[in-house]
Amino acid sequence: MTDNTTSLYAAGRLPTGLLVGGEWRTASAAATFTVENPATGEPAASVADATAADALDALAAAAGAQAQWAASPPGLRSRILRRAHYLLIGRREQFAALITLEMGKSLSEARAEVDYAAGYLRWFAEEAVRIDGTWKTSEDGTARVLVTHEPVGPCLLITPWNAPLAMPARKVAPAVAAGCTMVLKPAPQTPLSSIAFAELMIEAGLPDGVLNVVPTTDAAALSDALMRDSRLRKVSFTGSTAVGRLLLAQASRNVLRTSMELGGNAPFVVCADADLDAAVDGAMTAKLRNIGEACIAANRFLVHADIAEEFTDRLVRRMSDLALGDGTDSCTHLGPLIDATQRDRVAELVYETVAAGAELHLGGRVPDRAGYFYPPTVLTRAPAGARISREEIFGPVAVIHTFTDEEEALEMANATEFGLVSYLYTRDLARALRMSGRLESGMVGLNRGYVSDPGAPFGGIKQSGLGREGGNSGIEEYLEQKYVAIDSTGVVSTGVVPAPVAGEQP
Ligand code: NAD
Repeated sequence: MTDNTTSLYAAGRLPTGLLVGGEWRTASAAATFTVENPATGEPAASVADATAADALDALAAAAGAQAQWAASPPGLRSRILRRAHYLLIGRREQFAALITLEMGKSLSEARAEVDYAAGYLRWFAEEAVRIDGTWKTSEDGTARVLVTHEPVGPCLLITPWNAPLAMPARKVAPAVAAGCTMVLKPAPQTPLSSIAFAELMIEAGLPDGVLNVVPTTDAAALSDALMRDSRLRKVSFTGSTAVGRLLLAQASRNVLRTSMELGGNAPFVVCADADLDAAVDGAMTAKLRNIGEACIAANRFLVHADIAEEFTDRLVRRMSDLALGDGTDSCTHLGPLIDATQRDRVAELVYETVAAGAELHLGGRVPDRAGYFYPPTVLTRAPAGARISREEIFGPVAVIHTFTDEEEALEMANATEFGLVSYLYTRDLARALRMSGRLESGMVGLNRGYVSDPGAPFGGIKQSGLGREGGNSGIEEYLEQKYVAIDSTGVVSTGVVPAPVAGEQP
């Protein structure tokens, strides 16, 4: 454990319990679970393991705080978020150390995640004071149409382990801005960042009960109990498409609002006219950010046949320079995968693809060391329809396929049920616009291997999800429209009524 994490734990500064109604407490069954350091496989912390009864207590606290929180001045919500932004930036090192400890990414990537998370706090601090409405006269002039926005109500927020601070922040910030209360359920592999974040939100001034946190090893039982309770009004989920489908079915029982940020299978298309230096730089980012454990990771490299060999050589050279190691070591480029299950899954995907005839250019062997490491790996000639091209790899494995014309590239890129992000490299503006328009994804990185931005709408189409996080419309995920029809028959001016235009029905 580094000095920074130690200092967070010092003198009990980092709670490891449940947050319910502003109080940190133990789980009702007094059960705890262990959080592992994936770089060593050793225990890092012991955290309270919430039961369904604890989660219902958390929902009761959220429901109890809802009316007052909804009535709070937008300026107050904005100030709390702004304060949280500055507190988080001021504690970048401690939070980065915590992210690295429980998730494994390198400290430099963890620092970038802290800044990304803080960006959502700042963005939604600004959005909180811009929740507007409309006012107009009805078509027949007998009413005024007043449209306002109100908070949806208590929300269940379920987050994954791969960005243990940014994913909670991306949900909590707009919910706070909109005036919603929350029950946050972090991933069991990485609850510490959420706990520390919740504590920071309280320090920033968030009233008791607005944010409740229930780490658990029994997510299914908790979410089922919460989603059967009519006090809950929304579920916002980031995670796999399989779990998203299940939650959508459960949400239908009480007709809950849903936001779903699900899995991806991003194509990374490199046209023959691309700037190859830029494409290789972008490929490194799109493939290796977060050790490849990102929903927006490039999953299939589709490279024009004329440049495929050169692209492969360059990518292999760049990837072979990367040092694997404990993320806290400043020499480390790539940390471990999250756990043994994930590492073994990636190893099996590579093994079966090579066994089916693919060519291995780099990596492909689990190193003999403690922790859950997998090396940077490059494959070409994967058989058509291979599982590695259909499923999210979630590891540092680049699979390069070739195409010969634009139509074939688009067909290959879109041959997936996912539609989160696509990457496209070309220097031809007309081709760029034409292909961006036809790529079936919610986001396109055009000559760029990175699309995450608090000010942009993050989200997917097809089976990659519903709704958007961030951007100008991000706050709407936590707002309902209310329309008030105001009778104005006595208000209508009795001035001149224009004669109908010839042929028009009066
Ligand atoms: P996961 O679906 O297994 O788990 C995500 C969360 O759901 C965790 O908190 C988990 O405890 C909880 N969960 C699991 N089963 C549940 C159930 N039956 N009921 C309620 N909650 C349940 O996903 P993961 O392995 O933690 O994360 C990786 C996945 O997340 C990948 O598919 C990745 O693409 C996706 N992801 C998507 C985005 C996005 O914005 N689209 C961002 C990050 C990750």
